[in-house]
Amino acid sequence: MTRLHAQTPVAPGDTIGILGSGQLGRMLALAAARLGVKVHVFCPESGPAFDVATTRTRAAYEDDAALAKFAASVKLVTYEFENVPSHTAEFLAARLPVHPNPGALATSQDRFVEKSFLNGLGVATAPFEPIDNVAALARAVTKLGRPSILKTRRFGYDGKGQAMIRRGDDPAAVYRLIGSAPAILEGFVPFAKEVSVVAARGADGSFAAYDVNENVHENHILSVTTAPAGILPATAAAAVEMTAKILDALDYVGVIAVEMFVVGRGVTEKLIVNEIAPRVHNSGHWTLDGSVTSQFEQHIRAICGFPLGSTRRYGKVEMRNLIGDEVLAWRELLREPGACVHLYGKHEARPGRKMGHVTRIVEG
Ligand code: AMP
Repeated sequence: MTRLHAQTPVAPGDTIGILGSGQLGRMLALAAARLGVKVHVFCPESGPAFDVATTRTRAAYEDDAALAKFAASVKLVTYEFENVPSHTAEFLAARLPVHPNPGALATSQDRFVEKSFLNGLGVATAPFEPIDNVAALARAVTKLGRPSILKTRRFGYDGKGQAMIRRGDDPAAVYRLIGSAPAILEGFVPFAKEVSVVAARGADGSFAAYDVNENVHENHILSVTTAPAGILPATAAAAVEMTAKILDALDYVGVIAVEMFVVGRGVTEKLIVNEIAPRVHNSGHWTLDGSVTSQFEQHIRAICGFPLGSTRRYGKVEMRNLIGDEVLAWRELLREPGACVHLYGKHEARPGRKMGHVTRIVEG
């Protein structure tokens, strides 16, 4: 009998752990299953990933006894969202590998730390100032001008925890609007486009990026991604190069998404990084149907120490999110030839809630 373990620390048949039970965890679990890897999902609430996991633990992220039991049942741990409490990440990292590493997680959890890290690498961001009180905010507004954007340092997503300071606005009132939490003020970037790079790094330093995504948001929530982005080849190459540099600096293992603004058009195109997401990302969902290896499989490959897969794209691809009531069209979408429909199994179509997505290969 040849044991598959002889070749790698994790082998098909083993179980890995995922923190979080949303749709990203669900699609990770499905990709793991394809490679024969089982998944134990740990989350305080049941969700889409629980439906497809081999094992589930429903417990608080602060429940050390439950975490210890979880750690003992899996070969390594990953996560599907960046707001994993640092205690949880460190508690687990003391017992087994956690990918991406808790340092990368901590960097991405705090907008001030994240932007300082990026600037330290020579990567451009919007100008920013740390804000701890109304006096600091008044000084920063004078420096960065209006409009500018006030964002909480931590726990912001899909536009939550941020507010614009426009001409005539009282900065103190806007600060109260975001709960007077530690924040940063960012200069407004008059971008032409929003793009993102989804890429992976293996523990051996191997690197694979998908073609750059072009993203359109509605009400701060991703609506449509097209790949490849309509940018110059040199701009796309620079975006990928920047991402590789970020992954190396973080000693990162797994899939990352780097969200960027494109300023200017044509030969004046310039990239400004907005934020990094240390996980699989909504703008990479098209890879499930439009690429040889999906971002979910790529993440599983990277964290398990398997070879990274090909990121070859099958054509021009468009991915549309089904948000809130949009999911009610599921029956018509299933009738449409060429529409690849993904539904997350959530019962309630609340406004702003990501219920599923549809991918179409628009050109071969
Ligand atoms: P974030 O939560 O940082 O991802 O921001 C959500 C969205 O707000 C972005 O996708 C942009 O559309 C917009 N946004 C954020 N920061 C800026 C900025 N500095 N200048 C202009 N638009 C921004």
